[in-house]
Amino acid sequence: MPTDPDTGYDPSLGRKFVFVTGGVMSGLGKGITAASTGRLLANAGFDVTAVKVDPYLNVDAGTMNPYEHGEVYVLKDGGEVDLDLGNYERFLGTDMTFDHNVTTGKTYEHVIERERAGDYLGKTVQIIPHVTDDIKRRIREAAEGSDVCLVEIGGTVGDIESMPFLEALRQFSHEEDPEDILFTHVTLVPYSKNGEQKTKPTQHSVKELRSIGLQPDVLVGRCAERLDPDVKEKIALFCDVPTDAVFSNPDVEDIYHVPLSVEDEGLDEYVMERLGLTDEALPREQRSTEWRELVTRERTHEIDVALVGKYALEDAYMSIYEALKHAGIQMETEVNVQWVDADETRDHHLERLEAADAVVVPGGFGSRGTEGKIDAVRHARENDVPFLGLCLGFQMAVVEHARNVLGMTGAHSAELDPETPYPVIDLLPEQHETEEMGGTMRLGAHETQIEPDTLAAEVYDATACTERHRHRYEVNPEYIADLETEGLRFSGRTGRRMEILEREDHPFFFGTQAHPEFRSRPDRASPPFVALVEAALESTDTTERNADATI
Ligand code: GLN
Repeated sequence: MPTDPDTGYDPSLGRKFVFVTGGVMSGLGKGITAASTGRLLANAGFDVTAVKVDPYLNVDAGTMNPYEHGEVYVLKDGGEVDLDLGNYERFLGTDMTFDHNVTTGKTYEHVIERERAGDYLGKTVQIIPHVTDDIKRRIREAAEGSDVCLVEIGGTVGDIESMPFLEALRQFSHEEDPEDILFTHVTLVPYSKNGEQKTKPTQHSVKELRSIGLQPDVLVGRCAERLDPDVKEKIALFCDVPTDAVFSNPDVEDIYHVPLSVEDEGLDEYVMERLGLTDEALPREQRSTEWRELVTRERTHEIDVALVGKYALEDAYMSIYEALKHAGIQMETEVNVQWVDADETRDHHLERLEAADAVVVPGGFGSRGTEGKIDAVRHARENDVPFLGLCLGFQMAVVEHARNVLGMTGAHSAELDPETPYPVIDLLPEQHETEEMGGTMRLGAHETQIEPDTLAAEVYDATACTERHRHRYEVNPEYIADLETEGLRFSGRTGRRMEILEREDHPFFFGTQAHPEFRSRPDRASPPFVALVEAALESTDTTERNADATI
């Protein structure tokens, strides 16, 4: 049978789908549960990929406020997506594409475009089958080339927005071989006042799922502790699954420990068995143990890194926290991130900035907090504190140099002060002429040439690097000659674009127009982050951790 162009159905492919839904409430960590399952399948030798379904009407996450949704994660192909995709890339060690984030906005936009083009031959265009077909096609296309595709449905079962997606999953269960699909439902098992684990919310959310025709195969209970055996039995009985299909996902100190925790419960074995993968899986003793080794590696030193941003919310800078953690794994160092609020209207946390062993100034848009960021750059420059500037942080390092070293009073980025006498950061002349605000961002992976014999060449140990970008403004070419005086040097360039800056008069001062945090992985820490941690360890008398301390 040929592939169905509307739904992407092709029975000859035989790939497996693990669908993951969530019940009771959002924020349970169903993405981490799914990613952990994926990690274990990858350890057993399978090619695993993931699709994140976001039932919101936005076409992509590009315009979403980080305070509400957390950071906008940027993929290699320039897709601006939900931060969960970052977790999948980090847990699975793969690079995904924009097609791995399916949103209501994308689906409806496409269906409406087809309707306008007359593709539906005069038929009434409906959620079933037209929208659900498009959802199935997208999921199947994203799964291409993998052995197992995890499909996480954002939101909670019962939300109006997620209905068409759940209906599409129901249709999957009719179209695909039963051995090729598995439904996992992640729910909350709260404690009552007298310390009992309560199953009623789980029962209700499974009832809700079943009312729309979905029967879960696996239930994962999020709870502070592991589920008691009799609680598992009760859930199994009321939700109509075998007792050994009920798993706990207890709180752990670090999300990277979730794969280890669910492996202890045998979730991976159960999933493989249900999907008929047991015979193909690597025998246990041949499975990769790299993840376990990385995440349990001992930390012998400890440093404090000040993160100077404007959103007092960890999720808004998630990939930076993660990249610092990866650098910490490589350097066997516990990296404590100290939040410093850059917003001048609020408490500046100056004492935290001054006590830090290193300073990171992250990316951002809009003028709020920029003066605080410039002050933080100055503090790092004047006091020889290791510094890493990312995107807007790089731009603010240029502004700080212009203002405080070169005496260009009022220098700024034209984005933040259109009237500045010294627009050291600006749109390039061709951007001024041809482009409007919308859709003009420079996005995704771009290669940068690195000058030999520079800090950048040492950091990357290469003559070029490829990092992901998300910005509109650039170092103004008219000021480059002036700026490259008094210690500052642009050591990475892409054509006329300045990409990396460093200072000759400083132990470690590194700014990049890119976002290296998006390429960082637990087993492949980002070079600028590793170099920052290394510099912090060298330049300060950091705490030697006691030998039996673990992470
Ligand atoms: N707002 C700046 C620009 O558009 C920096 C963007 C960022 O930090 N991601 O160039």
